[in-house]
Amino acid sequence: MDVIESIDNLQVQDPPGEDFCSADLDWVKLRSAERCDDVALIPYDRVDAFIIGECSNVECPTRFHIERGRKRPKGSLKEYKNDEYLEYRLYWCSFGPENYGEGGGTLPSRRYRLNTRNRAARPQSMRGCTCNFVVKRLYARPSLVLLIYNERRHVNKAGFVCHGPLDKDAIGPGAKKIPYVCSEIQQQTMSMIYLGIPEENVLEKHIEGIQRYCGSDPKVKTLASQYVQKLGMIIKRSTHELDLDDEASIRLWAERNKKSIFFYRDTSENEPLILGIQTEWQLQQMIRFGHRNIIAADSTFGIKRLKYPLCTLLVFDSREHALPVAWIITRSIAKPDVAIWMKSLLDRVRSVNSGWKASGFLIDDAAAQIEPIRETFSCPVLFSLWRVRRSWLRHIVKKCTNIEVQREIFKRLGQIVYGIWGGMDLAVALEELLLDFVDQTSFMQYFRDSWLPKIEMWLELMKTLPLASQEASGAIEAYHVKLKTKLYDDSHLGSLQRVDWRITLLRHQGIELSKSPTLLFPSMKMTSFLLKYSVRRTAA
Ligand SMILES: [Zn+2]
Repeated sequence: MDVIESIDNLQVQDPPGEDFCSADLDWVKLRSAERCDDVALIPYDRVDAFIIGECSNVECPTRFHIERGRKRPKGSLKEYKNDEYLEYRLYWCSFGPENYGEGGGTLPSRRYRLNTRNRAARPQSMRGCTCNFVVKRLYARPSLVLLIYNERRHVNKAGFVCHGPLDKDAIGPGAKKIPYVCSEIQQQTMSMIYLGIPEENVLEKHIEGIQRYCGSDPKVKTLASQYVQKLGMIIKRSTHELDLDDEASIRLWAERNKKSIFFYRDTSENEPLILGIQTEWQLQQMIRFGHRNIIAADSTFGIKRLKYPLCTLLVFDSREHALPVAWIITRSIAKPDVAIWMKSLLDRVRSVNSGWKASGFLIDDAAAQIEPIRETFSCPVLFSLWRVRRSWLRHIVKKCTNIEVQREIFKRLGQIVYGIWGGMDLAVALEELLLDFVDQTSFMQYFRDSWLPKIEMWLELMKTLPLASQEASGAIEAYHVKLKTKLYDDSHLGSLQRVDWRITLLRHQGIELSKSPTLLFPSMKMTSFLLKYSVRRTAA
């Protein structure tokens, strides 16, 4: 192959025939300081003919989808190189880039494959194909396109042919005809089904999505409708039974959802599991609403009931609604573990917006690690009382029957909390409380067991940190309650211990919460009741 250093003298090729493929072109190597690419120059209006030709590769019939694209307006550049782009499109074989098939992670505890009948639908699950090329419409000569072939073979990372008749695993007569569904559309379709949107609307959106690269004909529509129906059935039947082996299931989930994970560390002998989830949508919200604003942690979800408790990071939108922008599933609150995922999250945000900065970090647990927050986010830490108040109120209502007494106890607890700034003697105040309500045995038992051992630590921390605003506290609580209702609603499934199930639910929740802000305030009644008894101390 010839080696050239500039495309100036490269000959334009226009093979005859309706369509043509890479084998019909003479390729040369274009060498620059950084790289050496296989290139060919063709007329812009023959791009479609080339792509169709590449799709009808006898050995590996496939489709190509646009994995990445960029455009710049004509006349926007004053100076440019002769191979600068006007339009840039990276086409990827639709059996890649991700690998969802065998070798992409087989579950150790499952010897058989689920949906074996579905094997013909191979293109729906990507096979890790690395075949890809770039179509670069030239800025200097818009009637021409520079083709750059990065990987011409249809092989996976390991170098094996991964689809087509030469792929030993390709079984089923329909394998090459079923329209490819990329993971984004798949995700969107799934979310819509989860949200309970009527099937015909889901289908319409779905078809719209796949037609971007497979044209429209009745066959495509029939297949798409079958696909949506099937997906709906699968979701209905089991959204979470990825595998019986929970940890293997997380591993598989993580493998399949790399784009939504900002940190993942598998369980090992000395290190506990940490899984940090953040979808693209959440990343954008974090950048938008978290910059020069408060980030809050609902850090205590499922601390008693779940094998892996859940921490949610929240931001507040312009209407003070709490939006979940990251979920961390782990049992560990050890300093190095917290520091490692926080840093990873911040790196991710800063990779998009390097000047991103939080103005404060709100915590709701006195046992939380404050140092990693200060070190990573370099901002003040604030404290929210919602969790303490909520816990007290719930138990008062449950354990004391008389409304007057309920009110009185709650008022006294409020006085104790806010007394710390007035030089109150905590020991005396607590003793008086226990004496005055000695007949409320059930509540006092709870208070003694759950709070006496740690109340001093909580109050000490409250004293040293500024308190969060009521709005922020209310919004966090609302989020927490909403999540809880959703989660424990399904608890008859016996799934509370299962992390993979929760992941599925969370992804669904992220979308739902973003769409229905009204759902965020189911507990406002309780919140306002709580707030009546507390003096407002808003942090600046
Ligand atoms: Zn391929």
